[in-house]
Amino acid sequence: MGETILVVGGEIYQSGVWARQALERLSQDGLPPTARNYAVYYTYVSGQNPTLSCAFDWAVSSGKMTQFLCDELYDKHIVPDSEEAFLRNANTALDGELKKVMGLLVQTTEGTDQFGKDLDNFSGTLSKTTSVETLREAVAKIAAETHVIAAQNDKLREDLADTTMELSEMRSDFDRVHRESEIDPLTEVGNRKYFNREILRVMAEAREHKTILSLLMVDIDHFKKFNDTHGHLVGDQVLRLVARTLVENLKGRDIIARYGGEEFVIMLPQTRLQDAERVANQLRLGLSSKQITRRGTNEVLGSATISIGVAEFVESEDSDMLLARADTALYRAKQTGRNKVVCAVTEDGTM
Ligand code: GH3
Ligand code: MG
Ligand code: MG
Repeated sequence: MGETILVVGGEIYQSGVWARQALERLSQDGLPPTARNYAVYYTYVSGQNPTLSCAFDWAVSSGKMTQFLCDELYDKHIVPDSEEAFLRNANTALDGELKKVMGLLVQTTEGTDQFGKDLDNFSGTLSKTTSVETLREAVAKIAAETHVIAAQNDKLREDLADTTMELSEMRSDFDRVHRESEIDPLTEVGNRKYFNREILRVMAEAREHKTILSLLMVDIDHFKKFNDTHGHLVGDQVLRLVARTLVENLKGRDIIARYGGEEFVIMLPQTRLQDAERVANQLRLGLSSKQITRRGTNEVLGSATISIGVAEFVESEDSDMLLARADTALYRAKQTGRNKVVCAVTEDGTM
């Protein structure tokens, strides 16, 4: 009983514990819970009267407590007037327990309304009762009902744990789906949706912190011819190779996405035009140095090249304008021989 209250309430109402202990011990000793017996046992378990405790221990040291011995203890150590006080004390204590349990009920699961009402009725009975028998009944009832609440609390805890787990699973599922929705399945770099989100973020960051930002438009040279000659599957393989090569040559804070069919876009935060141009050339050389072989036969198919347009973000422009300038630079790279890097000019003609 005491343990159950601990589980439910988390704190001990001391006189309630003594009252219960007294009744339990009476029952163990096979004595009826009369007012006199209860008074003796309550005084003993509470240790309030050392002389009685000593006499009690002495009485049981040679065997079991008997009604005769208990009557003796009562007559010698308990003032008859205090009987009423013991009952009131016990009533108050048990009433306190009930109120706590009822308070907890409010927080517990549904379907406990009736139980709450039962306890409420009990509480009313208790405040009027003067009989130890009624108290004993009350204790038994509370013991039974607190077990029910404890079980409900366990269930509630389990339900809560389950719900928490479900929620966190749902969140990670959602995160995964969200991440996957922004990844290009073929090349495994970000897709256009990812790019659209990221470009706004890095531009806002550059504006806020007054930092530089450069953008690269990358396009595979003569890719159509490659597809036509070797087939789309080899074309796909080249696309993956290009993506991997770009990723390998970028830093952690750089952002890459597949912009379209065989075009990639790269954002280089805190990188000015000249440095971005250098990075672009590294990417270009990194790819052209790789040999493409046919899977299975290892037949050498040559190498792929890319052309790159580079533009440095100007605070006054929006993402479309920045992209358009990089695209124009890329177009010029294509027109002037491919496998090369061209830097964009700003609208007023400066680099
Ligand atoms: P340029 O050097 O001027 O860029 O020539 P290009 O042939 O690379 O450019 P064009 O725009 O004429 O052709 C692009 C080709 O890219 C056409 C299309 O079949 C191919 N392509 C686009 N997406 C994919 C893809 O997912 N897989 C494969 N295998 N090919 C693709
Ligand atoms: Mg293209
Ligand atoms: Mg192309």
